[in-house]
Amino acid sequence: MKNSREINPRDSNSESPWQSVVSPDAAFAQVTDAFDVIIVGAGITGLTTGLLLQKAGKKCLILEAGKVGFGTTGGTSAHLNTFFDATYPEIEHDFSVQAARQVADSGKDAMGIITALVKEYGIDCDLEYKDAYLFSENETETDQLLEILEASRRAGIDVSEANHNDLPVPFERSLRFTQQGQFQPLKYINGLLAAFRQLGGAILENSFVTEHKELDNGMEVLAGERTFRAAHLVYATHIPPGITAFSFRCAPYRSYVLGLRLKDGNYPTGLAYDMQEPYHYFRTHVVEGEQILILGGEDHKTGHDDPEQAFANLEKYAREYYQVESVVYRWSSQYYIPVDGLPYIGRLAASGGNIYIATGFNGNGMMYGTLSGKILTDQILGIENLYGNLYTPSRLKPVAGFSEFVKENADVAWRFVADRFGAEELDKLSELQKGEGKVAEFKGEKLAVYKDQQGKVTALHPVCSHAGCIVNFNAAEQSWDCPCHGGRFDISGKVMCGPPRNDLSQIDL
Ligand SMILES: Cc1cc2nc3c(=O)[nH]c(=O)nc-3n(C[C@H](O)[C@H](O)[C@H](O)COP(=O)(O)OP(=O)(O)OC[C@H]3O[C@@H](n4cnc5c(N)ncnc54)[C@H](O)[C@@H]3O)c2cc1C
Repeated sequence: MKNSREINPRDSNSESPWQSVVSPDAAFAQVTDAFDVIIVGAGITGLTTGLLLQKAGKKCLILEAGKVGFGTTGGTSAHLNTFFDATYPEIEHDFSVQAARQVADSGKDAMGIITALVKEYGIDCDLEYKDAYLFSENETETDQLLEILEASRRAGIDVSEANHNDLPVPFERSLRFTQQGQFQPLKYINGLLAAFRQLGGAILENSFVTEHKELDNGMEVLAGERTFRAAHLVYATHIPPGITAFSFRCAPYRSYVLGLRLKDGNYPTGLAYDMQEPYHYFRTHVVEGEQILILGGEDHKTGHDDPEQAFANLEKYAREYYQVESVVYRWSSQYYIPVDGLPYIGRLAASGGNIYIATGFNGNGMMYGTLSGKILTDQILGIENLYGNLYTPSRLKPVAGFSEFVKENADVAWRFVADRFGAEELDKLSELQKGEGKVAEFKGEKLAVYKDQQGKVTALHPVCSHAGCIVNFNAAEQSWDCPCHGGRFDISGKVMCGPPRNDLSQIDL
């Protein structure tokens, strides 16, 4: 594991390979009080939107809770794909054949935007175009794979059968998608940031937005003690903050990734994915001059299951197929699965037309975050966007995704009730191990208690400030994670990610 050097901070305790590139300090940007657009969040979505709007002559301010890349963009695995977690057969079935074609076109457009921005601003971000392999390992998966082949072709994607899968993992059938890609996400967004600032864009880091108000002539936005005004407000926060419909339409998941040094140099040349549930994803990246196999998977709903076990399972899987010399990186991060498979991007109809969101990207936010930049820019400029209707947050999908929706929300309701019972009683705080956290009854009160390595105990009110579920301790990330909507808090109770607007309150023991 890499340690004890300056790294770009992230909403997690674990270190991704991208964090060795530290973003330039943005806190000293010139900030005046009124803007055309305020963008909340400095991940790929916020920075793409900011740059495209600034380029179009709008005066933008980006407000970021942490530092640039603090959210999932700093913990992604950065595959660039024109096929998505919602497969083309699923989109055809749940939406239409025409919609599947549009999704494919939008993916190609997103790839085109990344290519164009890299070229225009000379962004050195290790961008490479590669083939991607999707492979089956049993008969059921093979049937699905062949459906994906046909539907992807109908959608206009360049895909064919391949006689290998680029990996030492045995397979039944394999598909090769051409013109896919990969990059170093922090280098990329730092390039967007530099161009944004060059064009006069303003950015403030360490500025957690707690509230907004709709005024007659625009928006007022509160970040700590400071108030800013703009005509338009974009929430590029991965999931919009507060209690919104999107917390109920998007389910939070954690995904786990290892960066591995191999003994035999048998690194994949392209990108690869199996079809297990959850699936594994593979690629190679040269990090600080050294090839690293990036292998991800073992996803589960945030606050459910054991993160340490997920890492252990992933490492076991890696060692089954690869001659692993050492684990160089080990990290996890969060994403949101939308109820009907497609992201929600665009203007919020209920907001009087001045608030925009981009969420529900699943594991495809490099593409959808980029696309959001274009869609939101067009909408703010009053230009019709080809994909505006397809991804509109106002869509109602009564049939598609309905069963998934019921399942996710039943789960939330269950946690909400069940979590209120069943905390174990803790007689003495000395029963806690160093580095351990748990929700426990202590002297008749339910607390989230944590003992650090020095033996100091911190106690927090364990009820999530978002929608009132009880948080769970995440030992791998040293965080408190809410199993309902994915709110995550650090050991001191500070919001790190997800929809909560308020910290967990500390309790004086
Ligand atoms: C392990 C993993 C691997 C993945 N791999 C891929 C992949 O290979 N390809 C792909 O396309 N996608 C992938 N994804 C998905 C993709 O990484 C994300 O969808 C994408 O990074 C989201 O970008 P974003 O800018 O919308 O959000 P984020 O990067 O999360 O940025 C949101 C920002 O908003 C800030 N913020 C939040 N609330 C506030 C507030 N109230 N005030 C101020 N700031 C706030 C946060 O601090 C954060 O910096 C992966 C996801 C995971 C978890």
